[in-house]
This record gives sequence, C-alpha cells and structure tokens, in this order.
Amino acid sequence: MVKALYMSLALISVCSVAFMQPKEIANAELSVAEGISVTEITQTTEITKPNNRMTVVATAYCSCKSCCGIYAENRPDGIVYTASGTVAKANHTIAVDTSVIPFGTKVIINGKEYVAEDTGGAIKGDRIDIYFDSHSDALEWGKRTIEIEVIL
Ligand SMILES: [Zn+2]
Repeated sequence: MVKALYMSLALISVCSVAFMQPKEIANAELSVAEGISVTEITQTTEITKPNNRMTVVATAYCSCKSCCGIYAENRPDGIVYTASGTVAKANHTIAVDTSVIPFGTKVIINGKEYVAEDTGGAIKGDRIDIYFDSHSDALEWGKRTIEIEVIL
C-alpha cells in the first residue's frame, strides 16, 4: 500500500518536471528523490536541453543591384552598410530573420564563424543569406540546405 502511494506521487512529479526550467528541475529532484529512482528524473530533463543546431536554406548575395535592388543605388562611398549599421564583409556577414536569429548572434557555417548583421525581404524563418564580395562568388554558392550552429 505504501509502495503504491509512492508510485502515484512519482507519476505526478514526472509530468510537472517537463514544464519546469532547469533550476526548478534541480529542486524537484531533491524533493521527490525519496519516492522515485534517479533514472526516471534523468530521462525527463532531456526535454529541456537547448538545441543550437538548425537546418536552414542558405542563399547568397553581394552588393550589386541584382542582389540588393534599390539599396545598391545609394552607396556613393562604395561602403556596404548592413541593416544593423555594420559594414558588410565576406566570410563574416549573414542576413537573418531577427525573430529567429537576433543581430550580433555568432553562427558557425562549415566551421567558419559568421555574425548576424543584415536582413533581407525574402529572409524569413529558417532562411539565411550569406554575404560575398562578388556576384560570381554568390552565384557559385547558389542555394543550399545546410546545418548551422547558433552560438547561444
Ligand atoms: Zn550580386
């Protein structure tokens, strides 16, 4: 009878742990540790583990008119400013949907570190746009589905 009571308590606890933050889970482990095994708790905490890998469709752009439209016409000094105010650089700048990846976020693409600095009309959701120095480099990249790592 005592054992049956412990089992039902354990079920209630495990269900609520799934909706807790990691700090609350640590407290929950302490409070229910007598009633259930550690193994059950460990399996539940996996749910809240952050995942910083994303599969995205990555296109490419440069500073030319066909890539930037009217924005390419307003660069008398030749410097390409991004939507966040930085100067666009190849092997560094990417355009993102800032509701998915905020400005300033570091993103690893093929082992290289890029920074989310720009936006684009078509760059919504799981899309990124990689900045290149020349239009031929951008064309060479084309459109690829890749896995990126977002540094949280
Ligand atoms: Zn271009």
